[in-house]
Amino acid sequence: MNFQTIFNNKSPEVEALAPGRVNLLGEHTDYNDGFVLPTAIPQKTAVQIGFSDDGLYHFYSEDLNERVDIGEDGFRTGSMPTLQSQFASYIFGCIQVLKQLGYTILPFNLYIKSSVPMGSGLSSSAALEVATLRGIRQLFNLPINDVEIAQFAQQAEINYAHVQCGIMDQMASSLADTKHMLFLDTRTLERRVLPLPRGASILVIDSGVPRTLAGSGYNQRRAECEEAAQILGVKALRDVTDVSRVETLPEPLRKRARHVVTENNRVLEAIQIVETQDETRHVSSLQKFGELMNASHASLRDDYEVSVPALDILVDILQKTPGVFGARLTGAGFGGATVALVAQGEESNIATKVLEKYNNYGHTGNLLVGG
Ligand code: ADP
Ligand code: MG
Repeated sequence: MNFQTIFNNKSPEVEALAPGRVNLLGEHTDYNDGFVLPTAIPQKTAVQIGFSDDGLYHFYSEDLNERVDIGEDGFRTGSMPTLQSQFASYIFGCIQVLKQLGYTILPFNLYIKSSVPMGSGLSSSAALEVATLRGIRQLFNLPINDVEIAQFAQQAEINYAHVQCGIMDQMASSLADTKHMLFLDTRTLERRVLPLPRGASILVIDSGVPRTLAGSGYNQRRAECEEAAQILGVKALRDVTDVSRVETLPEPLRKRARHVVTENNRVLEAIQIVETQDETRHVSSLQKFGELMNASHASLRDDYEVSVPALDILVDILQKTPGVFGARLTGAGFGGATVALVAQGEESNIATKVLEKYNNYGHTGNLLVGG
């Protein structure tokens, strides 16, 4: 399949790409107005776009082998949509956000092909939105910048796909690349693009455990954080920097708040390490960065209680494997993936060893990034 076969032999006018992302540090901090540190992964979503000549928008995903035809009003033509045609709402949302800003977005054909795994926590949804917005920007020559692209993408996801997401995923997809990480203050959107720690690579392994409880667990943690902030008299837990302040909170709010406060501090420490990393001391910098990742996992496991036994096993194996500087669960938890900082060039070796051990526990781990 390609654009021409799906869209009556027409050729695309533009093509745009956007990567998925993985968060290195700063988990469950974004809805507390805190700090995050994601980087882009090599997997990308590509969209090709060309003008449509029948007054309808046509979207086709090669990955889902699914096509959606909709009018300007967003109503679908033809058969009833299946559940998966949810994908069209991300694209339709991007169009609507731009139209509301006063831009004229004429009907177009859009073809999607992606190597970002869907629903694995690597943010295929943000990659789809950012690629779509980049393509539309190019096609219609719109004067919008990369930060606005991230913001419009987030609005599309919240208001049209009805997913309550923070801004991290879209900012990472729009501003980071695989050699750089994005330090982002999710309150002010102040940001810095920093090189990945020198001498290290990223390894992402999926635990094979589906994130079944992620939705309800996530909402509960959000509510707990809001309650903790209210009791402490701050707008958001980001406003607490001295961890001793959380000690007066009742459990489990004390633990939850302690995770958020220490996690924010870990992100700030990590960027300090990277900014002062020099040629002679780079291994010790990597070790320090790795220790922060290990501490993040312990905090997510013990204080935030969003880990599961399989993730703990996988992280433990990673942390004990030579060449691994640090490892932790990444994403909301309750299953899903782990991220590790490993010695450059050792990715494949490490992944093979780790997966062999992990799968002996009866799990099916899957290498997503690295190697
Ligand atoms: P994640 O962003 O972690 O991968 P989400 O549940 O947020 O998981 O987003 C996944 C959804 O995004 C898919 O169910 C689909 O609707 C949409 N999507 C992402 N990538 C594609 C793609 N290549 N083709 C069609 N839809 C996609
Ligand atoms: Mg997503």
